[in-house]
Amino acid sequence: MSMHSEHSAVTVLGLGPMGRALAGAFLDAGLRTTVWNRTPGKDEELIERGAVSARSAEEAVTASELTVVCVVNYDASDAILRRDTVTDALKGRTVVNLSADTPDRARDTADWAAGHGIRYLDGAIMTPTTTMGTPASVFIHSGPAELYQEHRPVLEALPGSHTHLGEEIGRAAAYDIALLDIFWTAMAGYAHALAVARAEGISARELAPFAKGIGAILPPLFEETAEEMDRGTFSGEGNPMTSGASTMAHIVHTSEAHGIEAGVMRAAEGMTRRAIGLGHGTEGFIRVAEVLGRQR
Ligand code: NDP
Repeated sequence: MSMHSEHSAVTVLGLGPMGRALAGAFLDAGLRTTVWNRTPGKDEELIERGAVSARSAEEAVTASELTVVCVVNYDASDAILRRDTVTDALKGRTVVNLSADTPDRARDTADWAAGHGIRYLDGAIMTPTTTMGTPASVFIHSGPAELYQEHRPVLEALPGSHTHLGEEIGRAAAYDIALLDIFWTAMAGYAHALAVARAEGISARELAPFAKGIGAILPPLFEETAEEMDRGTFSGEGNPMTSGASTMAHIVHTSEAHGIEAGVMRAAEGMTRRAIGLGHGTEGFIRVAEVLGRQR
């Protein structure tokens, strides 16, 4: 296969909302894009835009040197990739799994791939489908640096930022887990805040501008406290965690007075009180991150 065709073709397995968005962005970038999905019928719009529809996963992976998998999780990608005919067809080719799952599943998939002569990169997508094909999309990757370099022209045909995080195959999934931890805890907090606000007669629309203000406080705090975490010193000057624990208790009381469960905030208050009990009350809240990992 010539360098030209190697770098101008890609296969996408999985045509959920994200798989379809990825395939569309590859098409827009001018790549010959072959697509396949377990349930047929999801590729009609892509075919109209020029995608090649494969009749089987095996046929799909044979069409390109590089196969990008984007399905719900690694049980789903295993169900596709670990069928004998597909595994055999992948021998000597490269798979990039952009499905979300745990670092352990990424490592397990890399072991399986190595055992079958399949070249393997892992990755994750950190932005919603609406960003695909735009400079706002964010991709992270991990695995052999040489292999990443080899397939960069195809992967980076997708507009957006692409970061190779290192050779350790579980690294992209580890970043993904940590970042989704922030996202889902924040969204759980927002959902809870909307419920408490509504119980107090405040509509979501009324709260939203102020909620955005709270969100804007976070990015500089992430920077500052990251330095504290890596240094191991947690300044509570101006905002000791005892003060934070007190406001957390107010949230618990107010929501429970309205019959609204406060499990997430109870958990946050609990970890803060544990750190205070260990003698860190005058320090900043992010000390909790270090206490969480302690055995006792
Ligand atoms: P889903 O997470 O719902 O995944 C749907 C895809 O998974 C479909 O192609 C579906 O096939 C396939 N699938 C599910 N179970 C199986 C199985 N047992 N065997 C084969 N295929 C299976 O939708 P998305 O496309 O949105 O997400 C894909 C990945 O992208 C996920 O890991 C998600 O976390 C990640 N992601 C998504 C974002 C988003 O905004 N949507 C943002 C960032 C990451 P079928 O049609 O046959 O059911």
